[in-house]
Amino acid sequence: MNILIVEDEPKTVDYLYRGLTEHGCTVDIARNGIDGRHLALQNNYDVVVLDVMLPGLDGFAVLHELRAVKQTPVIMLTARDSIEDRVRGLGDGADDYLIKPFSFLELLARLQALTRRNRAQEPLQLVIGDLKIDLLSRKAHRAGHRIDLTAKEFALLVALARREGQILSKTSIAEMVWDMNFDSNTNVVEVAIKRLRSKIDVTGPRLLHTIRGMGYVLELRPEGAATDDAE
Ligand code: CA
Repeated sequence: MNILIVEDEPKTVDYLYRGLTEHGCTVDIARNGIDGRHLALQNNYDVVVLDVMLPGLDGFAVLHELRAVKQTPVIMLTARDSIEDRVRGLGDGADDYLIKPFSFLELLARLQALTRRNRAQEPLQLVIGDLKIDLLSRKAHRAGHRIDLTAKEFALLVALARREGQILSKTSIAEMVWDMNFDSNTNVVEVAIKRLRSKIDVTGPRLLHTIRGMGYVLELRPEGAATDDAE
């Protein structure tokens, strides 16, 4: 993955640069909006990670100019946890956003999701073991049996299924499915997971796993695999 980071905080730049290069990414860095715009327009990146508060030219201005000519996927980073910022970023053509501070693994998951989305059109069906999720009709089946899900449960299932095999924290699930920061109130996620599990994991091997202290993962594990599922 070829990534441009536009960020002025040295600590964040170091953290991202180290993490991404360790994961085999090629990384360019711009420490202000003007250099960021220049590099983003000149090169073809798989993703641009774009801070909002930047010297020279802010992230929204960079995004605006980039979008006039290119559809390079952009993840905005913002320290300001305001709805206005998110709405504005997405309205201006950002593909995703992360609120600082964020975990590196969460950024990585979003980057992978974005590049996958960009590489191929979204599949119409997600399949995990004998679980089939039809994104068009918004229906889910397990071993041929229809599963009755609420809109939120379906959104939760899709969020997990799109990141099959990746552990999602309660916080990132809260952001993705409820579009908000729950912070302390991640109980909502726990309750929803429990309900979803009671619907999808009735028959066959368990697909929705709890990873203690980390979050949840949807995957079909090989028979006899060690499990650390906790209720
Ligand atoms: Ca900044």
